[in-house]
Amino acid sequence: MRIGAHVSTAGGLPKAIDRALDIGAEALQCFCSSPQGWAFKPLPQAQTAAFRARAAETGVGPNFLHAIYLINLSAPTPENLQKSMDSLVNYMGVASAMGAAGVIFHGGSHRGAGYNGIFRQVVDSLLQVLERSPSDVLLCLENSAGMGNHIGSKFEEVGRILRAVGHPRMKVCLDTQHCFAAGYNVATKDGLDAAMQEFDREVGLGNLAALHANDSKQALASGVDRHDNIGEGQIGRDGFLNILRHPAFHDLPFFLEVPGFENTGPDKRNVDILKELRAQTGV
Ligand SMILES: [Zn+2]
Ligand SMILES: [Zn+2]
Repeated sequence: MRIGAHVSTAGGLPKAIDRALDIGAEALQCFCSSPQGWAFKPLPQAQTAAFRARAAETGVGPNFLHAIYLINLSAPTPENLQKSMDSLVNYMGVASAMGAAGVIFHGGSHRGAGYNGIFRQVVDSLLQVLERSPSDVLLCLENSAGMGNHIGSKFEEVGRILRAVGHPRMKVCLDTQHCFAAGYNVATKDGLDAAMQEFDREVGLGNLAALHANDSKQALASGVDRHDNIGEGQIGRDGFLNILRHPAFHDLPFFLEVPGFENTGPDKRNVDILKELRAQTGV
């Protein structure tokens, strides 16, 4: 189990490794373009090669890219859908070049069309992205909090997509805050066990590639995506102790996407809390 964090790539891709090391993160997640815009500049080979070398030398990994926020495979317009697929393909290419394990993305909002209304479109677009991307990179659908008609808040929805895509590189990233907001009570041992049994039944534990470790500012089943620092939210330290203890997660990386105690994003204190809890589990 690796304790990782989302870090900035300002100043160049290899700088992300330094930022991870600065806060004690053992693995990292980052963007490779502005997450709020469609603009994409291919990364020079020197940058991706330097990242790869630096990751190998420092042992930071496994590493993942997080797709831009504009991606919406459930989009109602063909232009938007095409841009979303192209963006994912671009990210998959960079992930391969930098030696990252995969790209984590959100399924997007069906904007009122309903899950069934966009299901086939999502599956077909994922198949196209997989077809157009390198064979050594995973494509990971992240579960959502269910806010604003976002698909994938229920494991059943995630599982139906995975089964229909039926591709060995199609995987899942589970965000603890999104689980909690979607009504899975991962804060208690019983709630977590029940949630992971349901996950195994609907999605399959073997399809889980990574976790996002975030506490929740919002109540159980609130449907609201608001991350908190570990121990400051409604999942709490005891909740995370249970999560880190769960056998399903022992071989997976955890990535913090928390505001930070000084509002500077995932920080050393959050990493240290998770490391301390991991030590208590004896894993
Ligand atoms: Zn995400
Ligand atoms: Zn997340």
